[in-house]
Amino acid sequence: MTTIDPLETYVSGHEFKMFIGGQFTDGADLERRDVRDPSTGKVVTTVPAASAVDVEAAIAAAAEAQPAWEALGLSGRIACIDRFAHLVRENRERLAMLDAIDCGNPVDAMRGDIDICEAYFDGWPALAKSMRGDVIPASQGNLHYTAHRPYGVVGRITAFNHPAFYAITRPLPSLITGNTLVMKPSDETTLSTLALAELYAEAFPRGVVNIVSGGASAGDAIVTSSQIKRIGFTGSVPTGLLIQRRAAESGHIKHISLELGGKNAMVVFPDVDLDEAVEGAIFGMNLNVCQGQSCGSNSRIMVHAAIYDEFVNLLSSKLDRYRVGIAYDESTDVGPVVSQAHWDRVNSYIEAGVAEGATLVRGGGRPTGVPNGGHYIEPALFADVTLDMRIGREEIFGPVMSVFRWDDYDAMIAEVNALDLGLAASVWTNNLAIAHKTAGELEAGYVWINDSTRHYFGTPFGGAKNSGLGREESADELLSFLERKVVHTRLGDPRSALSRMLG
Ligand code: NAD
Repeated sequence: MTTIDPLETYVSGHEFKMFIGGQFTDGADLERRDVRDPSTGKVVTTVPAASAVDVEAAIAAAAEAQPAWEALGLSGRIACIDRFAHLVRENRERLAMLDAIDCGNPVDAMRGDIDICEAYFDGWPALAKSMRGDVIPASQGNLHYTAHRPYGVVGRITAFNHPAFYAITRPLPSLITGNTLVMKPSDETTLSTLALAELYAEAFPRGVVNIVSGGASAGDAIVTSSQIKRIGFTGSVPTGLLIQRRAAESGHIKHISLELGGKNAMVVFPDVDLDEAVEGAIFGMNLNVCQGQSCGSNSRIMVHAAIYDEFVNLLSSKLDRYRVGIAYDESTDVGPVVSQAHWDRVNSYIEAGVAEGATLVRGGGRPTGVPNGGHYIEPALFADVTLDMRIGREEIFGPVMSVFRWDDYDAMIAEVNALDLGLAASVWTNNLAIAHKTAGELEAGYVWINDSTRHYFGTPFGGAKNSGLGREESADELLSFLERKVVHTRLGDPRSALSRMLG
């Protein structure tokens, strides 16, 4: 196997540009922002920072391209998606490496992210082909049917944690339904999305997909544009709330879907296979995919008192096998968190956990043998966590696991449901009746029984309570990119029509 220098091969000498109206551009005011490699903390390149003028240009290009894109019809649009899928496969290694370099996620996990996209390349065309309108027998002498129309231009704003995966899969349901797109990745992790612009350029007609890079102001320009009626957002609860407010302040009614944060509970009953449940706890944290920086991570583990000590000890010893290191080093299990600012944030939670009386069983410090400037944290395990502690109730979005002890079922359910977050949860028991009763009582948009974190295309994914609005990856999402219209035809009395026509 030849060893390459990933930075040399995939970043140095490459130009990262925005993609507006079929043109690669540095933006109107040529402003750029540094890109740091979280594994070393060093600046590795720069990317454009979009101004409001660039966002407006992107929206105008998308609006101009939309009628022809819609008129192309479903089979024409699917042909473009198929072409794009082929290009993504060809660029798997480059995209995965860019995410490792830019985001800090282990490169092999990022190869996995690209592979998962296959389910979306297959799933969206199949769902779109099966879509039907309704004929509704609402009255005599009239024909009522429903038709669907795209909104026009869709704005997509995404989070930092799975950059290429979002930039590949999130556009698909809006595009296949005949909308055109302005997409903005997180300003923390833009490289793979800007690289994907080259593939979008090859696969889609000019103006159908537009990509701008930038932060809050670029996102705000998308959210408040009069030409964007539909926004898909993935990110934190505070930004989600702000987006709803700013959209309303724009004076335009907008359809907004929000995929937001979670503080997901894993509920463990005393009858579980301990080893399986502990493996499930680690897997469900997404530690070796994105350092626990996942909305779906089971960061609150509620373990029954009868097996509590055994569970915590086994979890602690199993965590020892995870090697923290450079994200693009093939032997790394857990990479650095995305930025110094995020490291400071996660570290402040670790300090708060200790100060508030939780037991730090393992981790939480800087691992040895890693580059000095990198943003590394040894996965932290806290026991004796309670709901009044910040680590017990706030989303940390990092490699920190909090284990609660319970012995009263109703009190445990009340604790899980006490938060205003409700993205996902999991239930671990071999008793089916208990499993389904508990799944029914947990306030979450997605509940696993004896599993966690995996979600499959076709099953509606999204949060309850403050964790979101709308459901993705399913027929629900496809319909959410279409406006429904009823067509009412007055047929009248066919007998009088016949006699008027034929005498
Ligand atoms: P974030 O809210 O800081 O940023 C998300 C996106 O919003 C970025 O592209 C950012 O540039 C943009 N943005 C920031 N301010 C904006 C504004 N005023 N107007 C418009 N856009 C703006 O979130 P993050 O740190 O990138 O991601 C972490 C959060 O995302 C966590 O809370 C996590 O749980 C959540 N998340 C949820 C899901 C899900 O599917 N439910 C998936 C991934 C991440």
